[in-house]
Amino acid sequence: MAHPKTERTLVIVKPDGIQRALIGEIMQRYERTGLKLVALKMLVPTESMIEAHYLLDSNWKKNVGGKAIASYMKKGETPPSSDPIEVANLVVARLKKYMTSGPVIAMVWEGAHAVELVRKITGGTEPRSAGIGTIRGDFVLDSYQMADSDDRAIRNLIHASGTIPEAEMEIPHWFTHGEVVNYHVPHEAILYDVDMKNILG
Ligand code: GDP
Ligand code: MG
Repeated sequence: MAHPKTERTLVIVKPDGIQRALIGEIMQRYERTGLKLVALKMLVPTESMIEAHYLLDSNWKKNVGGKAIASYMKKGETPPSSDPIEVANLVVARLKKYMTSGPVIAMVWEGAHAVELVRKITGGTEPRSAGIGTIRGDFVLDSYQMADSDDRAIRNLIHASGTIPEAEMEIPHWFTHGEVVNYHVPHEAILYDVDMKNILG
């Protein structure tokens, strides 16, 4: 089995993150854990790239549709449909508008538990309820309530792969093999070497 330090995850700073001038802040939060940036690009995504991205995982529609229906019920409102797939189609249409509205920055971060750590630092999907200290909790204020009543995607600054299999599908969707760079940084010795034996002369 591959060493956990080789785990990789995809992060996208969404158009609102670029417009809010949060690129440096966001990258610093991942970088300071010891995770290593191994790929980076700015682009304006096309609608078909966004649609394909969200449909890579065949369960995503069912999950996101279910989550959206639950949020309508919690507000005491009737969901646009009781079928999670139909509701998810609505979310995809909103996401296509949101994610193609301006440039985004796509990146790949590598290191032990990269997927889980990046999700922890990023915080929950809805900024209103995302934890204090997370990027979505600290830097933005959107809610399902506002987003749904304005018929738009929830603006939460970042996309981050949810699971290792999701990351493994998403990375090649955004980067060619050659765009992801293999290299070392000195602090990896302190993070991962079994003995810290090169500190004292
Ligand atoms: P994430 O993994 O935390 O980003 O969340 P999901 O993969 O479940 O959803 C993808 C993106 O769709 C989210 O980041 C939001 O921008 C948007 N979104 C998801 N669920 C809803 C919803 O119920 N309502 C609205 N308006 N947007 C949603
Ligand atoms: Mg997701």
